Amino acid sequence: MRSVPFTPEMRKEYTILIPNMLPIHWNFVVRIFSFYGYNVEFIDSTDRAIIDEGLRSVHNDTCYPALLVIGQYLYALRCGKYDPHKVAMLYFQTGGGCRASNYICLMRKALDRAGFDYVPILSINFSGWKNEGGGFKITLPMLPRAMSALAYGDLLMLLRNQTAPYEIHKGDSDKLVEKWTEYLCEEFNHGRQLYGSSIKKTMDKIAAEFEAIERDTKPRVKVGIVGEIYIKYSALGNNNLERFLASEDCEVMVPGLLDFMLYCVQGGIEAYDLYGGEKMPLYVRRIARRYLEGVKSKIISAASAHGFTPPSSFTHLTKLVDGIISRGCDMGEGWLLTAEMAELYELGYENIICVQPFGCLPNHIVGKGMIRKLREKYPRSNIVPIDYDPGATAVNQENRIKLMLAVAREHLAQMQSPLSSQSRTDASGQTDNADACVGSDR
Ligand code: SF4
Repeated sequence: MRSVPFTPEMRKEYTILIPNMLPIHWNFVVRIFSFYGYNVEFIDSTDRAIIDEGLRSVHNDTCYPALLVIGQYLYALRCGKYDPHKVAMLYFQTGGGCRASNYICLMRKALDRAGFDYVPILSINFSGWKNEGGGFKITLPMLPRAMSALAYGDLLMLLRNQTAPYEIHKGDSDKLVEKWTEYLCEEFNHGRQLYGSSIKKTMDKIAAEFEAIERDTKPRVKVGIVGEIYIKYSALGNNNLERFLASEDCEVMVPGLLDFMLYCVQGGIEAYDLYGGEKMPLYVRRIARRYLEGVKSKIISAASAHGFTPPSSFTHLTKLVDGIISRGCDMGEGWLLTAEMAELYELGYENIICVQPFGCLPNHIVGKGMIRKLREKYPRSNIVPIDYDPGATAVNQENRIKLMLAVAREHLAQMQSPLSSQSRTDASGQTDNADACVGSDR
């Protein structure tokens, strides 16, 4: 692939753009890059023009997230906000066998054809792809900051999701997210809050402050969101799904980014177990897994110590798919997507939206394709797969979700009735409730 070098001189003058996905996490990322002398911004527009740009620039059988990401870049270059001669694009690649690893070639082609052949495209990846020109480097000292940002981002997202629907004074949770993001970014700049016990203490303080938010006690329908990583997190990709669920008075749980990192690391371990290979990369992956699991355990203890529903440990996640899908299945979100649905059910988020982008074969198999098996194992699960593509209207998607929520509200009413415990026991066998699940493949 032809690549445009990004030199150290360009670093001083250029704005590096990233497609928006997770606003809480991305705020940390932007500040960390700024500490290292990069001017990074995320593209946060959800303008319909982005989809049209994507449709014009990539083949129409390309998966929807690729279309959106490329559309965002072209939109940013044309919207007048930036000087195209002073902009570079940054993209995160997992390096798996999926098309996500080849987006960068599609992007280059689309930018060249649109007349932006001078715009550099940079990559953060696990696959050894090198950025030319020497102006953009991920250095060792950046890693603890990035990992801490990931962990704090996951914790803030988890706590915010569990307090915002119940808060008496609207906006309290968002204010706390802002306050802690500001504080932590400052601390990162001084090399603090990055390691072991300091992370643990700070996470505990954060959870304590969220616990102190004044909240009502009215039970809400609890909804979990799983699916392809970009569509799951990006408001542009999922038509503002979280905002819609908030308007329906639901509490939302979205599994964190740390699990995806762990899943990527675990992929190599599973591959070694299945096919053999070199020992050295295996040892490195085992160390990385232990480190990431250690970070996740701090989130779990901070959340549970303050009365919040914590995520499951990664080890538990790996066990949840036993008898359902092989952990060797690692295209797209692979077995993790199935595990997350089982996890959400166990955590009390039995109503699950599985977001499926157009053109994404892997996630249709590990998402929609696993729903029947999950329903057999968890009869009360209320899972709905929702397709996202350039032509799908939000109204259609929301109507399907509303059907799922109607069943969810019935379940909630049953749980609150005096006979709730009896009804729950009955429902653990095959009942009418289980048959009330909404889903196109049923
Ligand atoms: S997981 Fe699906 S949506 Fe994501 S890059 Fe692969 S094919 Fe595309």
